[in-house]
Amino acid sequence: MSDTRPEKDTELDGLDFIRRIVVEHKRSGRFAGKVCTRFPPEPNGYLHIGHAKAISVDFGIASEFEGICNLRFDDTNPSRENTEYVDAIKYDIRWLGYDWADREHYASDYFEKLYGYAVQLIRAGKAYVDSLNADEIREHRGTPTEAGRNSPYRDRTIEENLDLFSRMRAGEFDDGAHVLRAKIDMAHPNINMRDPTMYRIRRHHHHRTGDTWCIYPTYDWAHGQSDSIEAVTHSICTLEFENHRPLYDWFLDELGIHHPQQIEFARLNLTYTVMSKRKLLELVTGQYVESWDDPRMPTICGLRRRGYTPSSIRKFLTRIGVSKTESTIDLSLLEYCIREELNKTAPRVMVVLDPVKVVITNYPEDGTEYFEAVNNPEDASAGTRSVAFSREVYIERSDFMMDPPKKYFRLSPGTEVRLKHACYITCTDVITDDAGSITELHCTYDPESRGGGTPDNRKVRGTLHWVSAAHAVSAEVRVYDHLFSTVNPAQVNEEAGENWLENLNPDSLVRHEHAVCEASLNEASVDNRYQFLRHGYFIADAKDSTPGKPVFNRIVSLKDTWAKVQKKEGV
Ligand code: ATP
Ligand code: MG
Repeated sequence: MSDTRPEKDTELDGLDFIRRIVVEHKRSGRFAGKVCTRFPPEPNGYLHIGHAKAISVDFGIASEFEGICNLRFDDTNPSRENTEYVDAIKYDIRWLGYDWADREHYASDYFEKLYGYAVQLIRAGKAYVDSLNADEIREHRGTPTEAGRNSPYRDRTIEENLDLFSRMRAGEFDDGAHVLRAKIDMAHPNINMRDPTMYRIRRHHHHRTGDTWCIYPTYDWAHGQSDSIEAVTHSICTLEFENHRPLYDWFLDELGIHHPQQIEFARLNLTYTVMSKRKLLELVTGQYVESWDDPRMPTICGLRRRGYTPSSIRKFLTRIGVSKTESTIDLSLLEYCIREELNKTAPRVMVVLDPVKVVITNYPEDGTEYFEAVNNPEDASAGTRSVAFSREVYIERSDFMMDPPKKYFRLSPGTEVRLKHACYITCTDVITDDAGSITELHCTYDPESRGGGTPDNRKVRGTLHWVSAAHAVSAEVRVYDHLFSTVNPAQVNEEAGENWLENLNPDSLVRHEHAVCEASLNEASVDNRYQFLRHGYFIADAKDSTPGKPVFNRIVSLKDTWAKVQKKEGV
């Protein structure tokens, strides 16, 4: 008997549901085997990591299937849009590593064409001018369980509609006096199909078309037709547009123009983060953060300033994949992706965030020597550097304890530790000021231990990082934590008076303004990322760092401390 099981379709192996659809379209010859996608941002805010997901899907699929991906600004709402956002969006997409070549489009380029399509629908008796005001339209719309009611203006003649619509365009009416609506079905179970608005009168200066237009298409009217004009084959968007698909299909079918396939996927949500543009704007305008590119923001410019690399973000997006199921991804996965990359690439350096001075009393007053330090134990090709050592060095204040508990392996009176790359020291004296706080630690060093020696096979338990006082460069180090201290900060009960802003983490930024670093970091640029031993991964701040007074941002800690906290608290 022959085996009737279907052959395994290896071409689909490992593909997500969108890519499977594209493969099937290519096979069936739909769209003549072509693939054209687009990324359609509204220029009313900065891009965030959620947009990066859409970008990676749109551009990624186009390039994998030998297609093209357009950049199209859906600039239909001039009141909230401006060119600052357009420029920032373009910069961010390029930085992420994607390219739209010369295919930079704007919905506003199609305003004339869209107007013509609207006239076509009026002529076909499929659109009408309504003179109800916004509140009345809302009242007539009905509810999910209750049918809507027809507007008294719904049966205007085609001639009357054509006349009114052209006078709307000519500026004869006040803002809000009339709208153009599609004539579909006020009892339709899908509210989006209840005669949706296509045009509004709005005297707003547009960042591209100036004052040419006083009527503007709604997003729902412009979006699908813009895709069609661009001959988009796969119009990929997020799930909230699933309910709009029947409307987009209706428009395209009534117009009889090229009909892209819309495919919806689940938005990216991240823990400890808000992603709505409105909320991000509120964080900026309310000065809860410094700016759109504050390193704690989930914006692309914020992640860039924080020190994330495009490759780590792309890796993250590949790892999470695409699906139709809403979920919230753990922020620690994004952190894991950058940590994993930097572990391989970042040179190790020594920086002391909260310094206390150590005087090595048996070391020559004016002596200096240089120790060889490995740049990256994960990467032999990164080589070594020489680190200056002298009689006075700084160590972390928290690396010394007067009365240490058992199993404290750092410095305390009488104990011996290793200074990384340098030598063993033993604490002999503790100098305090009048208030009792420690100003200096006096130590002796063992000359036999220099450069990694282990005199008498003596083992020391603690190894401390340090910086030579005579060679130190003072720096500011900014240690960031999650911007919010709750897992889903946007999930609040507003009726009970809860406010998502109360979930902000008061410790999301800790500034160490008197840090000291190795001289090699004096001219650190934003192109270099470092591992500060025992502190995590850092980058020079693109805005505030200057040679002579470097400022560093912590990109990510060395270990996932947050997961540990959660475990302990049983969250
Ligand atoms: P708005 O409320 O202003 O429409 P938006 O986040 O949808 O906000 P757009 O500029 O319209 O902003 O987004 C451009 C594209 O990015 C859209 O196709 C949208 O579906 C997609 N997108 C936005 N947020 C996410 C997200 N969190 N995950 C995945 N895709 C997203
Ligand atoms: Mg949108």
